[in-house]
Amino acid sequence: MNPELKTLISLQQLDLRIRELSAQIESLPAEILRLEKELTEFIRAHEERRQRLAANQKERRELESEVQMVRGRISKHKDQLYEVKTNEQYRAMLKEIEGEEGNIGRLEDQVLEKMIEAEDLQTRVAEAATKLEGEKARTVAEKERLEAIQRADTQERDRLAAERREKAATLPEQVLNTYERVRKARGGVAIAMVRDGLCTACHVVLRPQLYNEVRTNEELHECENCSRILYAPEPSPAEAEASGQPAVTQ
Ligand SMILES: [Zn+2]
Repeated sequence: MNPELKTLISLQQLDLRIRELSAQIESLPAEILRLEKELTEFIRAHEERRQRLAANQKERRELESEVQMVRGRISKHKDQLYEVKTNEQYRAMLKEIEGEEGNIGRLEDQVLEKMIEAEDLQTRVAEAATKLEGEKARTVAEKERLEAIQRADTQERDRLAAERREKAATLPEQVLNTYERVRKARGGVAIAMVRDGLCTACHVVLRPQLYNEVRTNEELHECENCSRILYAPEPSPAEAEASGQPAVTQ
C-alpha cells in the first residue's frame, strides 16, 4: 500500500477516536452534575418530610390543647346548669354543651388524621435516614469513578493527539490539506473504503477504471462524488492464508 495512504488511514482512525474521546470528556461534567443534583434532591425531600413531621406534631399538640380547653368550657357549663333560673335558660345551656361536644368530636377527628399522617411520615423519614449515608457514599464513589474516566480519557486524547501530530508531519502538505479539507466538509470522515465497486461512504458506483486503480492502493484517488480519499481493504496474512490466496494480490 502507498505509505501516504496508509498514514492517512491511521490518521483517520486517530481523528475518529479523538473525536469520540472529546465527546465523552465533554459529557462527563453534566453526568457528575446530575449525580450531585440527585443527592441534593434526596436530602431536600428528606428535610421537607422531617419539617412536615415536626409541624404535624406541633399541630397535634395544639389540637389536643384545644380539646382540653373545650372540655374545660363544657364542665363549666355543666356547673352552670345548677345555677340557671328558667327552663329556657336550661335548654339553652344544654344546647351550648351539645355544640361544644360536637366541636370536640371534630377536633378529635383532626387529631386522628394528624396521627395517621405522622405514622406515614415517621416511616418515610426513618427509611430515608437509613439510606442517607449510603446515598452519600454512592454519589462520592460514582463521582470519583467518572472523574477517573475523565482523567484517563484526557490522557489518552493527549497521547493520540501527539501521535497524530507526528503522523501528520510525515505527509506532504498538499496531501494533508486535501485530507483536512475533505474531513471538514464530510462530517469528520475523509477516508472511505471501496467494496464491490462502490464508495462505502456515499454508495456511489465508481467508474471501472477508477475502481481498478483504487484496488491497487498504489496512489491516492478521491471519490468523484463525495471527494473522500479511497482505499481498498487488504486481507490480513491470516485471512489470505485461509482463503488460499496470497496476501497481496495486486
Ligand atoms: Zn464517495
